[in-house]
Amino acid sequence: MSLRPQGLKENWSLAPLTSWLVGGPAEFYLEPQSEVDLREGIEWALSEGLSIQILGGGTNVLIHDSGVRGLVIGLRRFAQLQNQVVDGELRLNVLSGTSKAELLKVFLKHKLEPAVFLAGLPGDVGGGIVMNAGVAEALRPREFVELTRSIRVWDWSQGQIQERVQRREDLHWDYRHCRGWQPGVIVSAELAWPFEPQDDVLERVRKANQVRLTKQPLDLPSCGSVFVNPPGDKAGRLIEAAGLKGYRVGGAQVSPKHANFIVNVGGSLAQDLDVVIRHVQAEVQKQFGVQLRTEVVYLGEWPH
Ligand SMILES: Cc1cc2nc3c(=O)[nH]c(=O)nc-3n(C[C@H](O)[C@H](O)[C@H](O)COP(=O)(O)OP(=O)(O)OC[C@H]3O[C@@H](n4cnc5c(N)ncnc54)[C@H](O)[C@@H]3O)c2cc1C
Repeated sequence: MSLRPQGLKENWSLAPLTSWLVGGPAEFYLEPQSEVDLREGIEWALSEGLSIQILGGGTNVLIHDSGVRGLVIGLRRFAQLQNQVVDGELRLNVLSGTSKAELLKVFLKHKLEPAVFLAGLPGDVGGGIVMNAGVAEALRPREFVELTRSIRVWDWSQGQIQERVQRREDLHWDYRHCRGWQPGVIVSAELAWPFEPQDDVLERVRKANQVRLTKQPLDLPSCGSVFVNPPGDKAGRLIEAAGLKGYRVGGAQVSPKHANFIVNVGGSLAQDLDVVIRHVQAEVQKQFGVQLRTEVVYLGEWPH
């Protein structure tokens, strides 16, 4: 039997830990700050027979109103970043809860292009890898895969923690998804980019932030784009063409500013967001014969 980890919370509200500000509590919640804390949390949950879910920055999840059973491990304080120039590359070793904003600062300091890519990308490094987060603009890099050299994973599926390191080439990187490392948790990552400083990087970061402010409803809680773009088209274009901008259920609304954003205009339930998501999918399917797939990850016990 493992000791109950220090700082373990019970019935802990998750809504404030998500960018949509919705969802019920975690049965148990832990915020490790070190690998020792993380290990203790996982081993305790295993000894109690509890399921384990990982929450990064919470910017791409829809948590059920009834919450999440078992242990939720929140990684927002699981942060550390080291960097050095090796063989003409900037190499970074980061714990997975390090925010993309921290990463941006390092690239900006060295005037390297990934700063432009990271401008306005919320969440943590781990979430960025899991989602292969990326931007629509033709930037370099454009997706997390291009920055990632390797990841270190802890897998507990055999009843105890097993560590493995996987190189970028060992993983399957798709549009907004990375497979081949599951199950488990991404503990850390090694990132790299050619050390080729450019003088206009700060100016380009400012412009990228400005463009996001103009195009996206950043004044309201959201999870960014809800649907992945179908091949050859844009989810936002299809939703707008279906006449769904402004469509609202409870506190959940298809943003009048950007149709692929569903915003919490106040007091939304997770259920409201899910109803809007499924209505949008049904309408776009009916009108254009296109099946929109969600980018957002559902956590908790959803019936679908
Ligand atoms: C305003 C706004 C704008 C956005 N713009 C973009 C954009 O331009 N491009 C884009 O791609 N995305 C965008 N997003 C979506 C989101 O920010 C990204 O997908 C982000 O990379 C998710 O990271 P996160 O840390 O918040 O992950 P979370 O939402 O916490 O988690 C996402 C998934 O990853 C899993 N996970 C997280 N960390 C780990 C880990 N260390 N080990 C194992 N599993 C883990 C979680 O269990 C969950 O399944 C936007 C979101 C918002 C709110």
